[in-house]
Amino acid sequence: MNERFSIRAHCTGKSMAWTLAHPEIEPDENSSDCIEALTRRLEQGEPLAYLLERAEFHDVSLKVNTSVLVPRPETELLVELACDEIVKGAKVLELGTGSGAIALALAKARPDVDITATDVCEKALECARENARRLGQAPTFLCADWLAGIEGQFDAILSNPPYVAADDDCLTQPPLAFEPRHALDGGKDGLEALRRIVENALPRLNSGGMLALEHGFDQGEKMREMLEKKGYVNIATLHDLAGHERVSWGWRA
Ligand code: GLN
Repeated sequence: MNERFSIRAHCTGKSMAWTLAHPEIEPDENSSDCIEALTRRLEQGEPLAYLLERAEFHDVSLKVNTSVLVPRPETELLVELACDEIVKGAKVLELGTGSGAIALALAKARPDVDITATDVCEKALECARENARRLGQAPTFLCADWLAGIEGQFDAILSNPPYVAADDDCLTQPPLAFEPRHALDGGKDGLEALRRIVENALPRLNSGGMLALEHGFDQGEKMREMLEKKGYVNIATLHDLAGHERVSWGWRA
């Protein structure tokens, strides 16, 4: 129901409060056409964020489009973890930034940190740069395929990479079917991107640096194993609000 009011507010240019308070006022013709078109898309299962071209994440409001994943509440865990764990003035690398959600939420919460954010998709970077401009933040954005070509040393590396198994039916159903496949599809077992990151991140971390990764609800054990095998220490996993293992991290000794 609220989604319909959000569409109405978006199409009429009125606030949500005004829209909720005046359900009886008929929108003008242009607004009605807009409401009808967006309602049809909503009914087909398209995420509301794409219809409104906006998503709220942590403490930032972001522009989103179909070139980027809709930021999820569970990904806020990664931001919270980074806020709690990284040292003052840390150099942070975020891989696969999409709309810039993680990098920009972290930049807002921790103005002391120096953030570099990457994506392999230029269109996603365009969206992230626009969000940075609107929020008055200036992380460094780079076009890169995970860690390939990344130079320098960091105190933390963060990522919410694609981790859904390629043959998982949910990829072809709403809402995921509307989102960029390359941001969701983690290959045969869903772990391809996570594996590549764990394989290549260690040399880019300073001693005492942290690698923290979001992953699927059933991938926690595998993640801890991968991190341990690579020599990370003090490995742990955080659960999301649904009680699923969602973010695992470890430290370079
Ligand atoms: N959390 C998303 C979902 O399953 C997947 C995000 C991702 O692959 N990074 O809906």
